[in-house]
Amino acid sequence: MKLCMIGTGYVGLVSGACFADIGHTVYCVDKDRNKIEKLNSGVSPIYEPGLDELIKENFRAKRLSFTTNISEALNKSDIVFICVGTPNKKNSLSVDLRYVLKVAKEILKFSKNKKIIVTKSTVPVGTGDLIEKKLKKNKKFTVLSNPEFLREGDAIRDFRYPDRIVIGSNSQSAFKIMKNLYLPLINKGAKFFTTNRRGAELIKYASNAFLATKITFINEIANLCEKTGINVEDISLGMGSDIRIGSRFLRAGPAYGGSCFPKDTKGLVSIGNKAKVNLSIVKSVIKSNENRKLLPLKKIDSIFGKNIKNKKIVFLGVTFKPNTDDMRDAASLFMIPRLIKRKAIVNYYEPTGEKNNFNKLKNCFFYSDIDKACKNADLIILHTEWDEFKSLNFNRLVQKKNFALYDLRNLYSLEEMRKKKIKYISIGRTNFS
Ligand code: NAD
Repeated sequence: MKLCMIGTGYVGLVSGACFADIGHTVYCVDKDRNKIEKLNSGVSPIYEPGLDELIKENFRAKRLSFTTNISEALNKSDIVFICVGTPNKKNSLSVDLRYVLKVAKEILKFSKNKKIIVTKSTVPVGTGDLIEKKLKKNKKFTVLSNPEFLREGDAIRDFRYPDRIVIGSNSQSAFKIMKNLYLPLINKGAKFFTTNRRGAELIKYASNAFLATKITFINEIANLCEKTGINVEDISLGMGSDIRIGSRFLRAGPAYGGSCFPKDTKGLVSIGNKAKVNLSIVKSVIKSNENRKLLPLKKIDSIFGKNIKNKKIVFLGVTFKPNTDDMRDAASLFMIPRLIKRKAIVNYYEPTGEKNNFNKLKNCFFYSDIDKACKNADLIILHTEWDEFKSLNFNRLVQKKNFALYDLRNLYSLEEMRKKKIKYISIGRTNFS
């Protein structure tokens, strides 16, 4: 089949490359000229394990191409995927649909022949109806919802082996076409789940809000563990072994961040508000997570006794999770400017390179060498649990005594840290050192 992905970001690029890899011809469109130029010169604009190779192979095989020319790409394709961003409106819970609606307008303007329009972007209930209304003047379109569930860092695997493929449509013939499109994945065991269009739109928000709730729940339990001398990891294991609960998303850590959970929990509350339904659980999850953002700063105060002036604080990783370069809503974006404001010196080592988010901060320094970043540190903050941080020798790296290690991901064993006589603070685990 011939596909057009509009929006070549984390979702559009990964799913475009993966669709090409299962044999479809894919035209990826983006309005960002820079991005398209990079892609056409063989460089991926994002970091995602395995993506570079996948792009190169399918580009060479002429199944995958990149353009800023939406008209050309549209008119060569049978199915058009909308993969643009759906952030929250500024200072608001509600979802900013301006990018999605702009794409609808462009489809109406440029498309000459019959097409299936699929929303892969996460959009509020009723957005498909809105797009359909916009395209009504031209009856050649069928509008479907196919929310995306891939996780950055595992995106290619998630595309190839999805737990489920959700298609929302009010047309039976469209289900057949979409089943055909995904057949190689369905043949390998992916569940093909169909519902109406609004149902598919809500499944995505409800799934993300539920996962955010699980994280927030274990984070609050971790607070309780710290006060009662219990190891939260025992609780996660004890709870997670119950198959009704499941072990995933039960790891305590900092406030959840990233490109999806913060915006989608808020988006769901705004969908509820519009329908005059009080989604009180999701509201309290958002509030609890906001409060949690302050917790690491309070912990740092307790380590230094509030005076952090000239203290050398080192961040290991600054992205919101490992195996991605995505900084959206990362805890570091909240923490680093506040530490700098209080006159600390912040070094950071980040496997995906320097981040322009911190360029303007005085006394915030990027290091591409972990040894140099950590030397003479007063405090090391394990912010993102990249594999390369798992077996670091902190005493050798820091080269001085009395430094502290604050582990936001419970990456290290309490026992090991005790043996090494490191002042070690983690999440929801009683610190015996
Ligand atoms: P992104 O910001 O990485 O990419 C969006 C791209 O769309 C950008 O490159 C932008 O330049 C392009 N764009 C915007 N308007 C355009 C237009 N008119 N024409 C052409 N290109 C245009 O966003 P993302 O992370 O890929 O997310 C896209 C959607 O998928 C969002 O709704 C998000 O909630 C959802 N989603 C994201 C993830 C994730 O892990 N990132 C997972 C599942 C679902």
